[in-house]
Amino acid sequence: MSDADATSLKRPSGSASGTSAGELNNLNNVHIGEATTADMHYNIPNKIPKTEKCATSGISNIKLETNLGIPRRLYQIELVDRILELKGANAVIVAPTNSGKTLVAADILKNHFDKVPGSKAVFLVPNGLLAQQQGEALGKYLPKANTKVLRGEACTSEQINDLLQTTDILVMTPQILINAYDDAFDQDKPSFPISLIVLDECHHCVKKAPYSQLMEIFHLHLPGRPEPLPKLPQVIGLTASVRISTSKTDTAECNIFKLLANMDARLVMVEKNKDELAFYCAPPEEILVEYKDRFQIDVVIKPRKKKADLAYVQWLRNISTKLISLIEDAECKHDLVSCVEYLDMYNNSLMLNYECRSTDAYNYLKERAKTLMYKESRPESTDAWLADKYKGKIGTIEHYLCSSDENSWLAVLKEHIMKTKKPGAPMRCIIFCRTREICSALVDWANDSEELCDLNPGFITGSNASTSSKGLTNQQQNEIKQEFLDGRRQILFATSVAQEGVDVKKCDNVICYNFTSDMVARIQTRGRARKSGATYTVLATKQRLKDEEKSKQNEIKQNEVLQKIIQMPHPEFTRLLQREQKTLLADLRNNAILEEQKKQNHKRELQEQGKDYSLICGHCSDFAFSCEELRKVNRHHHVVMDEDFLKTRVDLDLGTFVGEKWPMWFQFAKMHCKNPKCRRFLGPVCHYNKKTYALPKIEMFTVVAPNGENIKTLKAWKDCPFHVERFQPENPLFERTIDN
Ligand SMILES: [Zn+2]
Repeated sequence: MSDADATSLKRPSGSASGTSAGELNNLNNVHIGEATTADMHYNIPNKIPKTEKCATSGISNIKLETNLGIPRRLYQIELVDRILELKGANAVIVAPTNSGKTLVAADILKNHFDKVPGSKAVFLVPNGLLAQQQGEALGKYLPKANTKVLRGEACTSEQINDLLQTTDILVMTPQILINAYDDAFDQDKPSFPISLIVLDECHHCVKKAPYSQLMEIFHLHLPGRPEPLPKLPQVIGLTASVRISTSKTDTAECNIFKLLANMDARLVMVEKNKDELAFYCAPPEEILVEYKDRFQIDVVIKPRKKKADLAYVQWLRNISTKLISLIEDAECKHDLVSCVEYLDMYNNSLMLNYECRSTDAYNYLKERAKTLMYKESRPESTDAWLADKYKGKIGTIEHYLCSSDENSWLAVLKEHIMKTKKPGAPMRCIIFCRTREICSALVDWANDSEELCDLNPGFITGSNASTSSKGLTNQQQNEIKQEFLDGRRQILFATSVAQEGVDVKKCDNVICYNFTSDMVARIQTRGRARKSGATYTVLATKQRLKDEEKSKQNEIKQNEVLQKIIQMPHPEFTRLLQREQKTLLADLRNNAILEEQKKQNHKRELQEQGKDYSLICGHCSDFAFSCEELRKVNRHHHVVMDEDFLKTRVDLDLGTFVGEKWPMWFQFAKMHCKNPKCRRFLGPVCHYNKKTYALPKIEMFTVVAPNGENIKTLKAWKDCPFHVERFQPENPLFERTIDN
């Protein structure tokens, strides 16, 4: 959601504001308590019929507002009242971006604490970038509540219980809570004193996403679990949109009911104060500009996918993950990896040449080639051949560089960046780009431009990549975001990571630079344009503009279907919800039963054979580790726990692979088979929570059953025939939890 600060009443540009002081005072007296001179500065819309003004206010709200002193809009009060009416039932609140959903959540929390003094709540956010921001907002809205933002993603159940002793609201990512629940189940104490959970950006509660995993815990009293869960917490979801997969009404309706079923929730939307909502949450002006294709890439061999495109990157990734993992021969595999790396480099530089300056593409090429050629290579090896190819072409590229024209796309981009710039006044512009490399190159371009350079451009990218490929750590992300927030930077180039994480009230210009996204992401992206009079501009090729149009149509369909559902008679709604829930629960139960069977079979085999499964190198068949040494961290990371494993049983390559491989998991080395004739890559080694973990990749091994039978190479850990125990690391960041 990330519309934490949308409390002030703003007036969309160009509309009338002829509100009389009498109306203003009347409104303030009823809804805000004492009218102060400060309140007089807010522009109250005069579009709303008088009769509706007090329709939804109740005594409890007056008390609440007096306590908090922040003015509420009528539709915000309506949403809070609708949640009260549900008397503890779960709900999904759908309201536009920038409608002040965090403030609504704060009021819901306040009501909850008033009703049950001493109760505890959790506020969940989908990523670390949002945690700090929403924690600060809640701290501001609920100064009397003790709010804490939890960093990292590990936590034992004991740590959570300790924190809840002294805290009213815990803000964190869902993984922490899932881990804590899993840990609590392992300890036979499957409960926390949490009575309300808010799921921010709850459209993520689908498939196997962390939000969904958390809901699974509540849905199922899994076999083997000691007691049914005690009273479940109330769950309130907040979102600006619900993902729909097609523009067909039936399917779209089904998509929305799936989310509601997953959260066991009613749908809550603004119904009475729609005019006011529309008045304040008018989307920014949309500008679409078509870019002419710059040139076609001529290639002799017909490529599988169009070059200079992300589809090509995807194709390359498929080769690396699907094909290369199947190859047993180490040398052959190494050669293929090298080829893929070079192709990836060339494709990235083509993309840069297309969307940035040719010099940016050239600089990238040189830098990346340096790291690729750093590897020692024997003469006549594939590496040497690839390096020669590159060296042979670089002259042609340099020649092209001298003769190439200025990229005409950039002139248009610059014009649109500067369109909101007023002399002497600050501006905030976010430009969304397709890749990290493009972001970085555009910052170089902007720094070379006299006008743009003064605005101190920066870039924000995801934390899933190494720094060598322009990835940022969580801390760096937060720093850049802060600089943009306080105006030290007025231009921010961003990948999709900022679609949900960057919430800047002063942002008046959002540009998508040949960047389009699906319906949900489009709504989020557009929602970054927060200032009144802001614009949302898409500069893209014809094909991409078509995608944009499709997302737009889906948004219209989504709104239509949401209206249909909200107006549905209650029995009809319940029938459809229960239908989805039945399917959902049946699937969950089947999976749980299968997992339990696997566990029992594994146990039986252990007893019968007297030994465990073992994993041997998939190439040379040397013993690697036994199944009993394996543990699962965060449900999906498989680690070898034996301390001597890294020291004595594998070779470590402390190469250039430093970076955040998964959030909070910092890779610093690769493991290789110890057999000198084999040396097969076996998986990454990471720091997580200040400890070192070996993370073997299952596809590199052959599994040997207790009866000695070999099991063909498996592609994923979930396909393993054995059960792996969980391990719950402590959170070393616990002591440094941020207080608000
Ligand atoms: Zn080996």
